[in-house]
Amino acid sequence: MLETRHIDKEKKYTRKELLGLLGLLALGLAPKNTAANLLLKKSSSMMRVKTICLDAGHGGHDPGARGSRSSEKDVALRVVLRLGEKIEKELPGVKVVYTRTTDVFKDLYARPAIANKQNADLFISVHCNSFRRRAAQGTETLVCGFNRLEEQEVAMRENASILLEDDYEENYNFDPKDPSTLIVFSLMQRDHRDQSIRLASLMQKEFSRSARVNRGVKEQSLAVLATAGMPAVLTEIGFISNPDEEKFMLSSYGQNQIVQNLYDAIVNYKKAVES
Ligand SMILES: [Zn+2]
Repeated sequence: MLETRHIDKEKKYTRKELLGLLGLLALGLAPKNTAANLLLKKSSSMMRVKTICLDAGHGGHDPGARGSRSSEKDVALRVVLRLGEKIEKELPGVKVVYTRTTDVFKDLYARPAIANKQNADLFISVHCNSFRRRAAQGTETLVCGFNRLEEQEVAMRENASILLEDDYEENYNFDPKDPSTLIVFSLMQRDHRDQSIRLASLMQKEFSRSARVNRGVKEQSLAVLATAGMPAVLTEIGFISNPDEEKFMLSSYGQNQIVQNLYDAIVNYKKAVES
């Protein structure tokens, strides 16, 4: 087991530092008290799901995608709060931590930092999709990985929240749209790739069982997942740009169904990794 107690979990790294750490990581030479070690924490053989960090996308002056009646930030928060309540009530021994419980703006780097600080075993970010064609519909769940640039549409949109941060240049010291930044993001989650894909696949399976259109599991270079030191997924629970799906996501019935899908996926994931 790696020493993880004294890690500076909230340090922000410049791109140069990150590339250096990743190089050392690849050579097995990473110094002890760095985020690089945090990334190596919790191999699948010692997985327990005791703490889950739920992240409602966007917030405050970042509304995310807009539907005709609502904003992504509000739908995401409602679903996250309901999901957290259900987990705490029905999964004894599992603690839930939130990146936000109200309509506030949080920097993308601050979200996984909360999960890291709380030693969370899972990081789940909830978002709504959007597309210029109103007929686009369905659910998809993303893990941090690298695909061809033209396939990074969701990542580009979700990462753009960085640009709304007051001091993003100071926080990141790199351009979120630079292709090499996207590669760094994907490398950082590499050690959790299999478990992240496992959870993402279970989520998509549950959405399918509820007859939602299944757009699958995708790998994209997502800033909000990159520095999470645990399996991390970003789930797009439906298209807010599609009037029918927006109505569904705003309804109590729809929210209950989405929450049940995510909850069942978490329970199945927990059983699988702990057995
Ligand atoms: Zn979003």
